[in-house]
Amino acid sequence: MSQNQTLPIVIIGTGLSGYTLARELRKLDGETPLVLITADDGRSYSKPMLSNGFAKGKTADELAQADADAQAGALSARIMTHTRVEAIEPEAGRVATDAGPVDYGRLILAWGADPIRIPLQGDGLEALYQVNDLKDYGRFREAATGARRVIILGAGLIGCEFANDLINGGFEVEVVAPDSRVLAALLPESASQAVCSGLAQAGVRFHLERSATAVHRTPDGVLVTLDDGTEIVADLGVAAVGLKPRTQLAHAAGLECGRGIQVNQYLETSMPNVYALGDCAEVCGHVLPYVMPLMAAGRALAKTLTRERTPVHYGSMPVTVKTPACPLAVCPPPADAEGQWWIEADGRNLRALFRSQEGNLLGFAVTGDCVGEKQSLSKEVPAILPA
Ligand SMILES: Cc1cc2nc3c(=O)[nH]c(=O)nc-3n(C[C@H](O)[C@H](O)[C@H](O)COP(=O)(O)OP(=O)(O)OC[C@H]3O[C@@H](n4cnc5c(N)ncnc54)[C@H](O)[C@@H]3O)c2cc1C
Repeated sequence: MSQNQTLPIVIIGTGLSGYTLARELRKLDGETPLVLITADDGRSYSKPMLSNGFAKGKTADELAQADADAQAGALSARIMTHTRVEAIEPEAGRVATDAGPVDYGRLILAWGADPIRIPLQGDGLEALYQVNDLKDYGRFREAATGARRVIILGAGLIGCEFANDLINGGFEVEVVAPDSRVLAALLPESASQAVCSGLAQAGVRFHLERSATAVHRTPDGVLVTLDDGTEIVADLGVAAVGLKPRTQLAHAAGLECGRGIQVNQYLETSMPNVYALGDCAEVCGHVLPYVMPLMAAGRALAKTLTRERTPVHYGSMPVTVKTPACPLAVCPPPADAEGQWWIEADGRNLRALFRSQEGNLLGFAVTGDCVGEKQSLSKEVPAILPA
């Protein structure tokens, strides 16, 4: 289908990706009709705040920055809230929603990722909270009122951030994970140890190399059984075992999908006039569920949609992990990078540099006082998607 300029640009999703793109678009073009469709209430918020909101004492309402009406006014857009897209019909240039069909000239998929659910025995799965949006956070906070003991399944980025936030919020926190160390996918061993001991000193209790096998409801909360038979009783359970890009509807519509919805450097999917960015997208083979990449994608795509076809460039993409018990910034080397880690450590201050055989810096992790070196090290690391 060729693109029809009188039809609106339709963005599905009002998370950071959808709203960033809409804002960047409006900087360049105030005229083209713009429609945003979202399954939620369309409030704008910064999702990273969900994993440090407890220590800051923030409710979900306090984390919300603007409601859908205010956003619609600021963006000169129509925002369809509480509206779920059920199918994409690329041949017809239309999406089917539970509020009826919506025609598009250009369609942008910014509908994020689903939390992964782990298969567990028992009747308590529904009692495990997964905090991936403002509504989840609100429900979780409500449930946490009066609670004391929290069990977290998962010791990756989100699990560690929640552990730190909840311990700072006055809870007793136990973390269970099958990995032998925390943040195993991102860090070399010594950096994992620095973060783990920082969190342990703050009071977090770890059960590493242990998997949860069952979760049961109790009158007061949950009982989690581990694979060695250990039983942990808690008032509240949180599952933080990762996210999976939402590809189902895209796949059903015939769009090429791998780990995410596959797009090229112009954020174009395999169907004409359909684009994707943010947590749902796999950009030239990279699935990077972080804020920096989606901001870069939003800026590039806004130009493509309004002016000239513009590729997205990803520089190095360091991530600051919100574990104040052991401050951490990490820029992981590419999965297929050849080289080795060089570590310098002084107590909790650690500098881990991943260098190629030629001595080029391909990635790093810094903790404690060394976090201040994040910017200068980032400049040395090669761009992920160069210009
Ligand atoms: C707890 C937590 C802490 C984080 N901390 C950091 C951090 O410190 N630094 C960092 O860089 N990144 C962090 N991230 C990652 C970062 O927040 C995400 O990469 C980013 O917010 C993703 O935005 P998104 O717009 O792509 O997806 P989402 O925010 O998930 O938005 C998806 C939107 O699509 C809508 N939607 C979904 N399906 C449909 C449908 N079928 N029909 C209609 N609408 C639909 C949803 O309602 C929602 O509006 C964190 C993530 C989490 C969960």
